Amino acid sequence: MEILHTPEELREFRKKLQGSVGFVPTMGALHQGHLSLIEMARRENDNVIVSIFVNPTQFLPGEDYTRYPRRTEADLEICRRAGVDGVFLPKISDIYQSNDEVTLKAPKIKGYILEGHFRPGHFDGVLQIVNKLFNLTAPTRAYFGRKDAQQLYLIKQMVRDLFLDIEIREGETIREPDGLAMSSRNIYLSPEERKRALTISKALKRGAKLSYKIKDVNRLRAEMEKVLDIDQLQYIAFVNREFEPIEEVEHGNTIILIAGKVGNTRLIDNLYI
Ligand code: AMP
Repeated sequence: MEILHTPEELREFRKKLQGSVGFVPTMGALHQGHLSLIEMARRENDNVIVSIFVNPTQFLPGEDYTRYPRRTEADLEICRRAGVDGVFLPKISDIYQSNDEVTLKAPKIKGYILEGHFRPGHFDGVLQIVNKLFNLTAPTRAYFGRKDAQQLYLIKQMVRDLFLDIEIREGETIREPDGLAMSSRNIYLSPEERKRALTISKALKRGAKLSYKIKDVNRLRAEMEKVLDIDQLQYIAFVNREFEPIEEVEHGNTIILIAGKVGNTRLIDNLYI
């Protein structure tokens, strides 16, 4: 496995690769969720590249950028064992060479609802970094998790709108045995908070189950709120696969999303039903 520190090193490495390239962008602190994407990329491609970069432009002022977990050695070991060919580990100054650069803007509606409403500008930063990484890795396929459903949707839209020649592949959300969606941020949770964080996936399961009897999303939302025990609920939303708000559940074309805070930790989760 090669470790590539600069864009130039990555480009040189990429030039030598033969066959298809699967790319998995991450912010590190790798867990089973990331690993499932890496394994999918491994199965589907001749070569696999993983990037590990905590991207400053997708964090808002006051968010957890400085304390976001960084575990490079453990991450590299996970990549090695998973048969990754190249890991891109750039420095911020190699990625952002000027503070007045050409930028991408997330779409006005779908980039600024839900996550975009609570984290305005977040998706601009996500699209900016993913586009840069796509240009450097020139992948055949790129892998994203449904855990970040709105991000996945917007990346697919970027690929379509900017005519990028990349196939976007999506991975199911990987959960702890008790249902908590895996996230690098789960390590912020105290044992007591973790117990309450579990009510997020419980509420989603309850919503999904009840949706076979109750189609109305307002009634479903009320039922879900009954089991939630978190400190600040930011949203329970029902959208179709195009991220348009819906009033009634349509199975096969609905995503139920929850965001909220447990203590100081902001968590998101969703279910495709
Ligand atoms: P991150 O390191 O949080 O930026 O995530 C990198 C990629 O892993 C993104 O495509 C995420 O959607 C995906 N991911 C994160 N957590 C999970 C999970 N629990 N299950 C599946 N994919 C995940």
